[in-house]
Amino acid sequence: MDEGKEVVARAVYNCSLCGKEAAAVELVEEKKADSTTQRWIRISGFIGVVSEVVAGSAADSFRRHLQRGDAALLPERFAPFYCRPCGRCYCIDHWSCEVRFDDDFYDSTHGTCPEGHRKMLDD
Ligand SMILES: [Zn+2]
Ligand SMILES: [Zn+2]
Repeated sequence: MDEGKEVVARAVYNCSLCGKEAAAVELVEEKKADSTTQRWIRISGFIGVVSEVVAGSAADSFRRHLQRGDAALLPERFAPFYCRPCGRCYCIDHWSCEVRFDDDFYDSTHGTCPEGHRKMLDD
């Protein structure tokens, strides 16, 4: 990990079918040279590595959610591996994925869970 960056909360969610890691979600704090702190959410192990900057207030509630480890508490965009209708997490192998292209450019990935619920996994 780079200097100045610290993982302040981390949760690993396992696939409810095979037990494999579905994704690891982390809250990372980065101290900037101007002494401000930037916070990131980082999701790895599902579709590549996704990271996004979050505001301080959102980061605080996010940290509590990660500590409780319940994927249902996470905002939808930070829990693509979680199927809300099922109330379960699935690894990428158990989502049946459909990648869409818009004029040859990657557009989005839709997935269908093992129970047949469809949703957007990545855009
Ligand atoms: Zn489902
Ligand atoms: Zn699985």
